[in-house]
Amino acid sequence: MTSKKKTTKKKPTKHAKKVPAKKAPAKPAAGTNPQRVASILAKLDEAYPNATCELKHENAFQLLISTILSAQCTDVRVNQVTQELYKKYTKPEDFAYANPAELEKEIRPTGFFRNKTKSIMGASKVIVEKFAGQVPRTMEEILTLPGVARKTGNVVLGTAYGIAVGIVVDTHVIRLSNRLDLTRNEDPKKIEQDLMAIIPQNRWIKFSHQLIWHGRRVCAARKPKCAECNLESLCYSKDKTT
Ligand code: SF4
Repeated sequence: MTSKKKTTKKKPTKHAKKVPAKKAPAKPAAGTNPQRVASILAKLDEAYPNATCELKHENAFQLLISTILSAQCTDVRVNQVTQELYKKYTKPEDFAYANPAELEKEIRPTGFFRNKTKSIMGASKVIVEKFAGQVPRTMEEILTLPGVARKTGNVVLGTAYGIAVGIVVDTHVIRLSNRLDLTRNEDPKKIEQDLMAIIPQNRWIKFSHQLIWHGRRVCAARKPKCAECNLESLCYSKDKTT
């Protein structure tokens, strides 16, 4: 007869590392039915037929600089600063070989001025030295500019060149696409993928502008004005105020 070995359970030591529970992937959004999406697009067209980028610019380069400046800053403030800035710095070379201390002072009202100065000068230098003074026209190339990520790439390619390679996902687009149940992701890259899968490509540029306009004018972060919202009948967000 064999004797059964007693198995003793090891007590976890005080310092044992806790393995973080894996986050379940976000459930696919229920609101992505093509008919519902088409209705949302139609309502956005009704409310904002002329939605466009609110950063004042005369060319792709100025839009790139303004978009870099707009991080954590309002478009109104950026436009105030660039009104003077673009009189002094008229071409990429001017920014590329600027006096950094002077530029920092000039863009200070937009916040994060040291990092923004580095990005502006770095991006301008690459544009001058690698791209013959022209803002590149592909996402792959534009992402090689210092301080430029997908959001800025989409703003510049979409608005300045009319090239739709993605959807701008800023704070308004993150909030609204979740409230409208077009995504259940929080990560901008995943949200962009979710939106690209359900919005027709020929609407990508306009859709970004319209959602940003709606976020600024009606569907604010704290107190959305749901009583004034023409998407109200399609929206079942828990943040609704009606
Ligand atoms: S109903 Fe309210 S929460 Fe829904 S989209 Fe309109 S403003 Fe935003």
